[in-house]
Amino acid sequence: MRALAVHEDVIVVVSGVWQTTCTAVRCGDEGFLIDSPVLPDELDALPSLFEQAGFPVSGLLATHGDWDHLLGLLAFPSASLGVGESTAARLNSELGQAQRRLREFDAEWYIADRKPLGLGSFQGLPVPGRLSIGSQGGSGGEGGVGEIEVYPADGHTRDGVAYWIPWASVLVCGDYLSPVEIPMISVGSGGSLEAYRETLMRFAPLVGRAELVVPGHGAPLKRAQAQAILAEDVAYLDALRAGEMTLPEGRHSAAQKRIHAANLKAA
Ligand SMILES: [Zn+2]
Repeated sequence: MRALAVHEDVIVVVSGVWQTTCTAVRCGDEGFLIDSPVLPDELDALPSLFEQAGFPVSGLLATHGDWDHLLGLLAFPSASLGVGESTAARLNSELGQAQRRLREFDAEWYIADRKPLGLGSFQGLPVPGRLSIGSQGGSGGEGGVGEIEVYPADGHTRDGVAYWIPWASVLVCGDYLSPVEIPMISVGSGGSLEAYRETLMRFAPLVGRAELVVPGHGAPLKRAQAQAILAEDVAYLDALRAGEMTLPEGRHSAAQKRIHAANLKAA
């Protein structure tokens, strides 16, 4: 696991598995954690890591309902979890699925002693919308009060949101714009090529203003890198629609070819 201080109010943690990212953002006396690392020891390390860095964790957020992004409650069991309303609807319609997938992953990789994941309550956030964070004396926004903007981000799955942190110019976008993974259209979870492409188009102006883009998988990207990946991913989707086998430069390993083969069935 790598922890990167990318802004005075933003730390990004990158998991050793799938490079799944977890972003801590603070403002005043409040802080949120967006998504999660995957491995038990990584999750166990989070409370002291953020405490030492002076990042309060007053709530958890997730970009979408895939299990590997939902594990923050294992590190902060008493925190509340906020998700986009589309993710709340998905989680309600797939009760127990995240827990089942987590157990399958742990069985596959011989991971023992995982605490049970309780996803009993979560709050659906209106999308598009704004989340206020902080009260007095912080550095973000006026008087230590900031607002995180929430945008729809569907296509990878039927659900999903991206979070824009205005005072840091950071976009936390979920499973899009990854430097390590081609666009993945999870048909079983309601993903679609058209929706994916529309989400990329919606991101374009935000990426154009971003100092940094945090993808769901892979290290944070500077604006120009994110713009290059956005263009590559639009080109990939257009080729996919035409049934072509062209994978973006640097993303054509056996694992990416498997994702591509699944995408071809979806297109
Ligand atoms: Zn993911």
